[in-house]
Amino acid sequence: MSDLHPIPIDGPSLGILESLRRIVQEVNNAQHLEEALNIIVRRVKLAIGADVCSVYLNDFDNHRHVLHASDGLRKNAVGRVRLELGRGLIGLVSERAEPINLDNAASHPRYENIIDTGEELYYGFLGAPIIQNRKVLGVLVLRQRERRHFAENEVTFVMTLASQLAGAITFARTSGELARLQQDGIPQRFLPGLAASPGIGIGVAVVVYPSADLDAVPDRRADDQGVETADFRRAVQDVANDLDRFALRTQAHLSTEDMALFDAWRLMLESDTLIDGTLSRIRAGNWAPGALRDTITEHAKVFDNMDDAYLRERASDVRDLGRCILMHLQNQTAAPIQYPDQTILVGDEISAMQIADVPLEKFAGLVSTSGSGSSHVGILARGMGIPAAMGVSDLPVGRIEGREMVVDGYRGRVYVSPGPAVHSEYQRLAADDVALTTELQTLRNVPAETTDGYLIPLYLNTGLVSESRPMGIEESAGVGLYRTELPFIVRDSFPGEAAQMANYRQVLELFAPRPVTIRTLDIGGDKPLPYFPIHEANPFLGWRGIRVTLDQPEIFITQIRAILRAAIGLDNLQLLLPMVSAVTEVDDALLLIRRAHDELLEEGYQVRMPPVGVMIEVPAAVYQSEALAQRVDFLSVGTNDLTQYLLAVDRNNPHVAKLYDEYHPAVLRALLQILAGARLHGKEVSVCGEMAGDPLATLLLIGMGVHSLSMGAGSLLRVKKVIRSVSRPRAREVLQIALQCEDSGAVRRLLMETLEAMGLGALVRPGK
Ligand code: PEP
Ligand code: MG
Repeated sequence: MSDLHPIPIDGPSLGILESLRRIVQEVNNAQHLEEALNIIVRRVKLAIGADVCSVYLNDFDNHRHVLHASDGLRKNAVGRVRLELGRGLIGLVSERAEPINLDNAASHPRYENIIDTGEELYYGFLGAPIIQNRKVLGVLVLRQRERRHFAENEVTFVMTLASQLAGAITFARTSGELARLQQDGIPQRFLPGLAASPGIGIGVAVVVYPSADLDAVPDRRADDQGVETADFRRAVQDVANDLDRFALRTQAHLSTEDMALFDAWRLMLESDTLIDGTLSRIRAGNWAPGALRDTITEHAKVFDNMDDAYLRERASDVRDLGRCILMHLQNQTAAPIQYPDQTILVGDEISAMQIADVPLEKFAGLVSTSGSGSSHVGILARGMGIPAAMGVSDLPVGRIEGREMVVDGYRGRVYVSPGPAVHSEYQRLAADDVALTTELQTLRNVPAETTDGYLIPLYLNTGLVSESRPMGIEESAGVGLYRTELPFIVRDSFPGEAAQMANYRQVLELFAPRPVTIRTLDIGGDKPLPYFPIHEANPFLGWRGIRVTLDQPEIFITQIRAILRAAIGLDNLQLLLPMVSAVTEVDDALLLIRRAHDELLEEGYQVRMPPVGVMIEVPAAVYQSEALAQRVDFLSVGTNDLTQYLLAVDRNNPHVAKLYDEYHPAVLRALLQILAGARLHGKEVSVCGEMAGDPLATLLLIGMGVHSLSMGAGSLLRVKKVIRSVSRPRAREVLQIALQCEDSGAVRRLLMETLEAMGLGALVRPGK
């Protein structure tokens, strides 16, 4: 503790803010919760000049406060002192959720003597609650031997620190550290994660580790740059060969769209950023592994810094590729794994290669401690129909090899060595799931038609990497939303007309004669291109979507030319404009589209002017849906952004995730208004946000009169099942009741009850 110097809270040289900043910085740099708590208690005790500083954390499961750190109390009290929730002064601070400042604690009616700590010797007491998201997580306590009423600036200082601590505690809770501190074993309860691929998997854990550790590579001077260069190039070629081999092996199980994943990796692998970046570092004197490490770190950081969760996930693809190259550089060859008949593949960061290595007939489930449903791994699992849970951060990966596991891909839950009750319950659910899948298969060749004969075409959402099962391709009415951002992101510069055209042609051909709706580039402040940086204070309200492409017409025109040329002879193209907030944007975009069309005709290309639609995803567009509908051929509602902008809730911010809800009455009313606007001009309205693929929403959307829905392929048959089970009048009745609800919870309950009453509850939860 010799490095500890007082950080005065109000001294002449250091302001209170600076003291706070320094402590918070130290806390944030802590490796784990215990270290963070110890820093806090030492620093706060010293800064305030108290005799004791302690932190009690709430153990909600066992209804008690547990002393987790202290500077001043007996060392052996930490972890041993446990107070029932609601008892004593600690309980009072927690109950009131406000600080309590007493110059003589023992005279307070709620005072209780805590045995084992020696606290009875102290008079002064200051307790500050540690709160996050309205929930008291614990109490930070200061004690003084003499009578002391803590000054106001000391109270606010402690409160501010307590609020900073809340973040670290929540993080530790979710990373399972608290559970480990409280009971050093594998939890018997389920471990929470994110639902990534629906289904129930029961099997045996096979743990996979990253094959090569880039972070462990040291810098080393290259003796011979020629040798390093040749080794690096050979390793890249080896990885390219591996990718081809794996692509060949998986192609029977994946859609052409999903196979595009391998193309994306090839693009990254062959990119100038990776190749030239590494070679120039070799020329600067580092050996190949060191040069590769720096290049990969730099490249991954670009994605790490993106606000968009999907794009952030691309950082792990870059690191994956880096590890593969390193493995070849180090001449490592992995020993073949013997997979049990029911394999649950488990890892901290599972690579696509490791997935491709598991024989499909033995693949029962997948669990990753990192990532989310939008990770490539999650997408692959969905594509292959493997139940998966991602982001299961509590899982003690090092201790579960060979254990029995259950993966609940509906709820993102995982059980390790489940007891007999859990096991048999999940066997029942798994059987139900098989029955449901079989039943849904029977819907593959029937129309998505209500019981009173109203057809609601179901389209697919795809991008460079689709979320489609192979069946989605034949099954869907076409593509309702083709996101074009990814081909722009995986390159080192804007793709040219020819490169883009090849991409678009592939998807247009794949679905022809069914329509394919290609959305123009929706890049912006939150999805910056590595080669086109945009720095903004409010990226979601900034230069995004059509705003960028109208300001940079050369990007727009190139894309439109590529799209129009790709559709020659197929005539199944529709264009969609994102992030529109004013009719003038549509007018300007239409002018540019016509210009591109006319130029191409003049150049001799037999292009046709496609139907053009506008995405309604900004509140301003809702109120102008009539004027917009007048200008274009159709409207498509992007409920993901519309919800974010209507509710003023950042769709990627976990702090406000609870407020993000498509079933909010305001969103429902906005949808009605859009339909009313379009109706005045006889234009159709589609929904292509995530809401379209949620079977819970289907009744509402039919009731409103939405003409078509576009979704990930995994949702197609579930949504079709709801459509085929209801008449439009009944859906309108349910909608009318939903419109009486004043909050999203009530809407959800109503819809859940209605689906259960229709015998369709199994579409949105496990079990029959
Ligand atoms: C939406 O906003 O609902 C949408 C479909 O677009 P994206 O998710 O690509 O922003
Ligand atoms: Mg959007």
